[in-house]
Amino acid sequence: MANSQGVLHNFNAGPSILPKEVFQEASQAILDFKGSGLSILEIGHRTSLFQPVMDEARALLKELMGLDDDHEPLFLHGGASTQFMQVPMNLLNENELACYTETGTWSTKAIKEARLFGHVEIAGSSASSHFTSMPSQLNVPATAAYLHITTNETIAGTQWQQIPFDCGVPLVADMSSDILSREMDFNRFSLIYAGAQKNLGAAGVNIVVVDKNMLGKVERKIPTILDYRNHIKEGSMLNTPPVFAIYVVMLNLRWLKAQGGVKEMQRRSEAKSKLLYDTLDSLPIFNPVVEKACRSKMNVVFTITDPVLENEFNTRCMEERMIGVKGHRSVGGFRVSLYNALPLQSVEALTELMKEFAKIKG
Ligand SMILES: *Cc1c(COP(=O)(O)O)cnc(C)c1O
Repeated sequence: MANSQGVLHNFNAGPSILPKEVFQEASQAILDFKGSGLSILEIGHRTSLFQPVMDEARALLKELMGLDDDHEPLFLHGGASTQFMQVPMNLLNENELACYTETGTWSTKAIKEARLFGHVEIAGSSASSHFTSMPSQLNVPATAAYLHITTNETIAGTQWQQIPFDCGVPLVADMSSDILSREMDFNRFSLIYAGAQKNLGAAGVNIVVVDKNMLGKVERKIPTILDYRNHIKEGSMLNTPPVFAIYVVMLNLRWLKAQGGVKEMQRRSEAKSKLLYDTLDSLPIFNPVVEKACRSKMNVVFTITDPVLENEFNTRCMEERMIGVKGHRSVGGFRVSLYNALPLQSVEALTELMKEFAKIKG
């Protein structure tokens, strides 16, 4: 969003940029929801005011992802981190094996939780390259209950370019940071989850798309609120859903559809990331750390070899009102996030600044 001081470029990694229209409509709904004289924050979720929001969010997600009737979209609490445990709790028996790819911070966290519920094997790891690449080969025994991947590692700045659909077992994916940014056959996944605050909406809601045929196979007792089947039965209203966060997701999905859907998001994402990587590659002062074939189109990670210059570049970004370019506290350097709502103009402004900086300092 821009304020009175002029244009602001928001490269935050999450929570992150959303379209201005979404913020405007969402603020209106807080003051007076659909002309009811009531705020969206003070109405029941099982009302004729809110139910249509849930219905539309669900229908838009189905449409934009092209989901078949076996794949059920759910709106749940707890962020993607809750799914790290809810997935194995619902899909993995204690004596069974699940395969995980180890590609960065987020998949590592998912692996830790899965180990609480059954056997876990690492099907492929890029730990030896400090997560600057992706595993080139996967080892997935046919007996595995599922293979879990993290389609985009938000902190490492890597992304699966080719989804391992042919792994021979059901595929589960954490898509928190690249959902709806590129076209793919979402029906080929057995389960998809994503925290909304990166590319879908406001923090507080979690999207889960689950193939119903995967459920009901584990022997353990699952607490009511953690059993996907109960959420399916109750249309994501088993208890009070995060109403406002769901409303923001719905508005954002409407926006996305009006812009031309996932196909258009992919076109924009390719243009934005190409401009940024081409610029980084052409200026020796910057070092894009990720192996070319594994580069993320959502989170672009780079360093400047001289730490003094790193500070100076960071200061220049702040002076130019470019927000959120500092790398994650665990890896340092820079990280620029190019989520769906980020306009190409912001990347143009950043690359111009990079060229100017390299000319003076290079
Ligand atoms: C941010 C992120 C998470 C964690 O999301 P929360 O909603 O904060 O739990 C998990 N996975 C990926 C890939 C992420 O980018």
